[in-house]
Amino acid sequence: MASQRYSGSLFNFPKLTVLYDKLSPRTMLCAPSDLVMDEFLADYLRQLRERPPKCIASFRRKLIERSLGTFDVTLAYSLACECGSDSGVLLGYPLSSLSPDYDGEMFVGPLTFRCRGCDSSVIVIDTNTDGYHGMMDSAATYRGSGDSSAFACLSCGSDVLRPFVAFGYGDAVFDLDEDEPGIDYENYFMGFAAYGQCASCNTESEVMVCDL
Ligand SMILES: [Zn+2]
Ligand SMILES: [Zn+2]
Repeated sequence: MASQRYSGSLFNFPKLTVLYDKLSPRTMLCAPSDLVMDEFLADYLRQLRERPPKCIASFRRKLIERSLGTFDVTLAYSLACECGSDSGVLLGYPLSSLSPDYDGEMFVGPLTFRCRGCDSSVIVIDTNTDGYHGMMDSAATYRGSGDSSAFACLSCGSDVLRPFVAFGYGDAVFDLDEDEPGIDYENYFMGFAAYGQCASCNTESEVMVCDL
């Protein structure tokens, strides 16, 4: 039962506190600057750090510390091409062209990285097949098709960016892992975000954020 799952011993893991910008119900504050995290979540985070989602398997990856919304566990990476270059163009589809209610700059997928070093293109995420509902063949998020556009830095307009991505995991994923031992649960992330740090002015832009 869930109530038993979370009743294990607590321990101090201050290095992980930066991964959480909001206190989840299972994260407790025991002293003003001393965040104590549930052992259950810490264990998942440790496992996930060894299990990157398949959609970024062909990138060179570096773990970074970043939180994603209110997800219990966030796994985040900076990405680079196999050739070693960490900058390129992020191609996707403006959400504003698909959703009349949205007038911001963010993109939806499929999101592709075109390397500045070797000009190869690699898909970062396709929400039809990646993430919780994509893996379940029931994707319901906005998705573009046809000619894609290059995301431009929100500050200077350059389209040469260094990509970062974050994956959010919560109860549904942990339940899935419990119900189907051995499942590749790292691919069932429920939240995704892509960011681009401008190679010209260093401004970081949110390129794509979605629940999956
Ligand atoms: Zn390359
Ligand atoms: Zn810029």
